[in-house]
Amino acid sequence: MLDWSETEPNNDPKKNVHPAFDKNAAPVADATGLGEIERGGARVSVDDKAMINCRADVNQLLPLKYKWAWEKYLAGCNNHWMPTEVSMQADIALWKSRDGLTDDERHAIKRNLGFFAASESLVANNIVLAIYRHLTNPECRQYLLRQAFEEAVHTHTFQYIVESLGLDEGELFNMYREVPSITDKAAWALKHTKNLDDANFKTGTLESDQDFLKDLVAFYVVFEGMWFYTGFAQILSLGRRNKMVGIAEQYQYILRDESIHLNFGIDVINQIKIENPHLWTKAFQEYLRGMIKEAAELEAGYGRDTMPRGFLGLNAALCEQYMHFIANRRCAQIGLAPVFPETENPFPWMSEAMDLKKEKNFFETRVIEYQNGGALTWD
Ligand code: MN
Ligand code: FE
Repeated sequence: MLDWSETEPNNDPKKNVHPAFDKNAAPVADATGLGEIERGGARVSVDDKAMINCRADVNQLLPLKYKWAWEKYLAGCNNHWMPTEVSMQADIALWKSRDGLTDDERHAIKRNLGFFAASESLVANNIVLAIYRHLTNPECRQYLLRQAFEEAVHTHTFQYIVESLGLDEGELFNMYREVPSITDKAAWALKHTKNLDDANFKTGTLESDQDFLKDLVAFYVVFEGMWFYTGFAQILSLGRRNKMVGIAEQYQYILRDESIHLNFGIDVINQIKIENPHLWTKAFQEYLRGMIKEAAELEAGYGRDTMPRGFLGLNAALCEQYMHFIANRRCAQIGLAPVFPETENPFPWMSEAMDLKKEKNFFETRVIEYQNGGALTWD
């Protein structure tokens, strides 16, 4: 499998002069791509393209500037899957059996599903309604469109699980408003998307560009890059013990998608830093480190709530240690100093879980099904 964990964005600062600091720059163009057409406008030059506050036409994908964004778009397409392709028979039998799962396991599974069910929508809404408008680069937008679809597939997964297991849909989907430890996480993330949600919000000032970065950190680094990872670890640890293997398989596919979402977000943040070094002040770095630390503490609270007693191979203390390990790793990926003392990864098997092809050739067989066209009738 392609490993996105160490990709580097374009690193040449000379090619990336922010328009605000370029004396020859034309005024920042229409960022939506839906403004008046500039009749006979000049062709796009690669050097005019920029991550934010771009003056080049956002409706022209080519010439490509950020190959890492395009490669992630292609990788996302290659990873296509649908939740309904995964058999739920074993999960249904186990869920309905009287003694196959302990009460603690059932409690943790439900909280976990409830957290993800609404979170996938929060992430999708943030991409579409907050990030897309302000990321003024067509190859990044191409990836965002792919990611938005993947979030829809993930939300579909929770619909399919609810239906298969006969769970209470209201209990699961409303959990983010009923269970305080889940509400606390969602509310924390929403705090950072609030500014961008304002119809009058525009990037282009120190403060608003930093607000945009805060939103990227809250959603890509924290939500998808930290909180989702403890969520995956919980279910995959049950899967390793042959429990809820259908959900565990679906989570592996989600994890594979999310690892690209996370690494796209990290590349976006790092590229914006390269093009706008004035944003990355010491004070701003401290602010972001504070965010990551706070987020890890919220996750520890959620872990205690989800696993008050713990079960084989998994408990709140191990999840907290994992969160500290992951938080430091995320800090390193965006060039921040670690926020916790160095700690070992308590779930080393998580990296194997991400390498699906070791165990399955699901994707090789399924591609044929997508290409047979048997379902296409136009009359
Ligand atoms: Mn997702
Ligand atoms: Fe995602």
